[in-house]
Amino acid sequence: MTASTFTPSARVQRIRQSPSTAAAARVRELKAEGRCIHDLTVGEPDFDTPDHIKAAAFRAIEAGETKYTAVNGTPQLREAIRRRLGRTTGRTFSDAEITVGGGGKQVIFLAFMASLDPGDEVIIPAPYWVSYPDMVRANDGEPVIVETSRADGHKLTAKQLEAAITERTRWLVLNTPSNPSGLVYSSKELEALGEVLARYPRVWVLTDEIYDEIHYTASPPASFTRVLPQLQDRHLLVNGVSKSYAMTGWRLGYAAGEAGIVSTINLLQSQTSSCPSSISQAAAAEALVGEQDSVWERVEIYRARRDRALDMLGKIPGLDPIVPDGAFYIYVDCQGLIGKRTRAGKVLETDQDVTLFFLETANVAVIQGSAYGTSPFFRMSFATDLGTIEAALGSVHEAVEELV
Ligand code: PLP
Repeated sequence: MTASTFTPSARVQRIRQSPSTAAAARVRELKAEGRCIHDLTVGEPDFDTPDHIKAAAFRAIEAGETKYTAVNGTPQLREAIRRRLGRTTGRTFSDAEITVGGGGKQVIFLAFMASLDPGDEVIIPAPYWVSYPDMVRANDGEPVIVETSRADGHKLTAKQLEAAITERTRWLVLNTPSNPSGLVYSSKELEALGEVLARYPRVWVLTDEIYDEIHYTASPPASFTRVLPQLQDRHLLVNGVSKSYAMTGWRLGYAAGEAGIVSTINLLQSQTSSCPSSISQAAAAEALVGEQDSVWERVEIYRARRDRALDMLGKIPGLDPIVPDGAFYIYVDCQGLIGKRTRAGKVLETDQDVTLFFLETANVAVIQGSAYGTSPFFRMSFATDLGTIEAALGSVHEAVEELV
């Protein structure tokens, strides 16, 4: 094979493959080599898409709904989004305030493309979802990472926000419930951030609420839209059907917010994919307004796994998990393992060393905290069956006991 003469654009040279995609690829490789790996890297529900949602997709195919749709989605999907957001935010979004795309990921990417000029800054509290910084870089912006502290419950404080804002700040990105920490911002915490934002009218807010249906608290996560209606003229709410409805492969996400950015995203969408799949749109409309029993049932299953995992993690010396209120991940502080020596004589110096040690010694795959901007931590997913979680954490416990 001859060497490629292709040179990626400078924009692309600034970004890297998502560490979670890379971890998943590594697990696949090891499994192909015949290793039995307990995989706790997964970022998607292990459940199947509910039958009533699949049925809506079959109906759409049979009814000939197989053509391009409007850029901002079918009227049915927009109405379903409106009803769903009406329930969770208390606000009625107009058609001009709703956009749809091939997953929340694509919508966030287009939001940055729609708004960032070279050098514009985007404040991203760490730990963060792995894709935000690279999406910002890919669109010529500068990610400004603000590391949160244990003392502040691993959430961005008003003081930190104020200190991070500069003349170049364009966005604050808030992910609640968070991937990887599962933390959820309370109304009070949002209000405190809102007070700062009120003083900086140039700063917009993107709330990534993709895990909002998956919560372990009595009431749903506080909605930025509901808590801070005065900031609606510079807010974009992103959500999608991937996580709540086990529809990651259908690639359907949406955003709702200020009409100017929504129409700019639509303009970009019209020149990129024209619209998301018409069939996925029909399925998503059913997901959002059809029966929701499967969502609640699955949250209860996640809760049982979460509780069991927390119980097991709590007994492993050197590990200190953050208790997640939402999503399906546990972010674990592994400072207590740093400096320990493996049987083979290797000293664990970083969280990457810890995750490699788990992989090599316990056959357990997790993702190192450095991928999420904070160390030393690792993220384990509990979007996998209880048996795998128990076997994995049992194995990690044994491996850790051997460290000196
Ligand atoms: N936001 C967060 C925090 C995520 O974890 C993910 C997926 O992992 C997404 C957005 C994107 O989801 P999708 O593009 O499947 O809608």
